[in-house]
Amino acid sequence: MADPVAGRAAVVGGSLGGLNAALWLADAGWDVEVLERSRSPLEGRGAEPFVQLIVDVAVPRMVFGRVCLLGDAAFALRPHAAVGTAKAAEDAWQLARALRSADCGDVDHALAEWEAAQLRLGGQATARTCAAGNRSQFDGTWQVGEPLPFGLYEVGDSALRPP
Ligand SMILES: Cc1cc2nc3c(=O)[nH]c(=O)nc-3n(C[C@H](O)[C@H](O)[C@H](O)COP(=O)(O)OP(=O)(O)OC[C@H]3O[C@@H](n4cnc5c(N)ncnc54)[C@H](O)[C@@H]3O)c2cc1C
Repeated sequence: MADPVAGRAAVVGGSLGGLNAALWLADAGWDVEVLERSRSPLEGRGAEPFVQLIVDVAVPRMVFGRVCLLGDAAFALRPHAAVGTAKAAEDAWQLARALRSADCGDVDHALAEWEAAQLRLGGQATARTCAAGNRSQFDGTWQVGEPLPFGLYEVGDSALRPP
């Protein structure tokens, strides 16, 4: 007999964060539907020159009842740490981990803990990338040869946290 389904989830956006969330939630036993608006294949994106407007996005909340914001929808980072994809994947990975370990189906508690941790991560990454962007592009205080602040949780961090 098939394992019981842990829950049902709809994921809006089938890119880095959305697909990772869908895969890890499915792995945790959830029945997941991905809703992606783009009709073009993801691998076809980014081949032509373009101008990209960058706006700092940092939300005060990531959980609204049973609706979660993750990836760029929650924190869109300036590019100086090259960490947007890792953060989107980490948000997704940690969401599945939190829901997998939810006691007796206490989804709300699991989501509250996930939100607190991911708000911390997003806030730290935002502060670091804003500081680097301001120093290198506006203040003129970036030293030639100074390394960029790569890393997800901190500078030099090369990996996601273990699940
Ligand atoms: C030019 C550029 C260069 C970058 N370089 C790097 C880099 O070197 N390293 C790095 O780590 N990060 C980089 N990033 C950042 C990285 O691309 C993002 O952080 C990452 O894609 C975020 O993933 P996401 O799934 O949260 O959002 P997205 O990748 O933006 O995915 C959102 C998805 O949701 C879909 N969608 C939107 N609205 C709806 C809707 N209403 N219904 C259904 N679907 C919807 C979109 O079509 C899209 O597929 C770069 C970004 C840009 C723009």
